[in-house]
Amino acid sequence: MKDRVILHVDQNSFYASVEMLRQPSLKTVPCAVAGDPANRHGIVLAKNRLAKRAGIKTGETIWQAKQKCPQLILVPPDYRSYLHFSRLARALYCEYTDRVEPFGIDECWMDLTGCPDHDGFAVAEQLRARVKEELGLTVSVGVSWNKIYAKLGSDLKKPDATTVISRDNYPCIVYSRPVEDLLYVGHATYRKLRRVGIRTIGQLVAAGPHFLRTMFGIVGLSLYSFAAGLDTTPVASSGREIPVKSVGNSITTRHDLYTEQDIKAVTYMLTESVSSRLRDAGMAARTVQVSLRDYQLYNIERQAPLPLPSQLCSEIAPEAFKLIMANFRQGQWIRSLGVRACNLIPLSKLNQESFLPQEKRRQAVWRLENTIDSLRGRYGGLAVRRGILLADRSLTGHDIKNENVIHPIGFFGP
Ligand SMILES: [Mg+2]
Repeated sequence: MKDRVILHVDQNSFYASVEMLRQPSLKTVPCAVAGDPANRHGIVLAKNRLAKRAGIKTGETIWQAKQKCPQLILVPPDYRSYLHFSRLARALYCEYTDRVEPFGIDECWMDLTGCPDHDGFAVAEQLRARVKEELGLTVSVGVSWNKIYAKLGSDLKKPDATTVISRDNYPCIVYSRPVEDLLYVGHATYRKLRRVGIRTIGQLVAAGPHFLRTMFGIVGLSLYSFAAGLDTTPVASSGREIPVKSVGNSITTRHDLYTEQDIKAVTYMLTESVSSRLRDAGMAARTVQVSLRDYQLYNIERQAPLPLPSQLCSEIAPEAFKLIMANFRQGQWIRSLGVRACNLIPLSKLNQESFLPQEKRRQAVWRLENTIDSLRGRYGGLAVRRGILLADRSLTGHDIKNENVIHPIGFFGP
């Protein structure tokens, strides 16, 4: 049987690169995207090259980072815009094959086997050039015959590089790598392997399946096949994704919420991305669920049926807001808030109850919200925002400095 042609594409310093795209001045200073810049225990999520040169590491606290590099510029994460660029990149990959499997927000596997463009290296080089040209971002690509080696390859040279791991060169490239470079070798496995003297992937292969099985049980066999390039796990097709069961979004706000206006603004913001993802997936929700956590870290989760199955923010958000207010005690400050659409059904299975008088109005709202989705797709998440979200920018996480880059082009009211 002929070998598969598998690519793993990894966007380099993804969050930081998107921020530099939006604010080019950040390119000339050490900068990091960090969970909560106001909190020195917040964590560095991504960093640019200058920050890396200063020794900043992903996952360390802001406090540690500032010790190393006092002039480090911190930027809060804007997941909406990362999602936007993630989708654009994925759409580009889908031009080559329908077998594109996302792994996190900034990585994808692609299976090119049997595609018109099936020269792995050529496609990798093309993708690298196109992502740079069309999105202004860079990627590292690994090319191999299995997902594990492809992933390993994309880690070997970055940024903006291609690494081919072939049948000819794999013992030379892969076997000398430390065992923790292998996907799925977590901290516990790593420590166990070290205890028996296994430090490289080559030593893991040499240990053999029987030894690994006695050590790790059935997982040991997978570990062996990953290390030896024997893994045959398919790349999931984008069309055959695991069906979405629910769509949710939650936020821990920068300051506690205690007024009705604040809570409403955040509820609408959360529901907007929930409903836009429902429309993307072609699903409607029959139930809305909310979760709140107050400043004493007391959690509440409540759900209620929607009057009609819906994928509209203007229908889901008021129900979510009602549910939150019914469970909100005066004097209780909310620290974090979540909205989830559940009990989903495909839109195609919904009866077209077009004889209902309200259905015409719903169709109009549906068209409006869809138009907004496509405007956002084209101009970024901040292009169109509900008037209510402008009440307090610090709540909804968008700083004024972001708006210098992407101008709001219109608002619509809740
Ligand atoms: Mg990455």
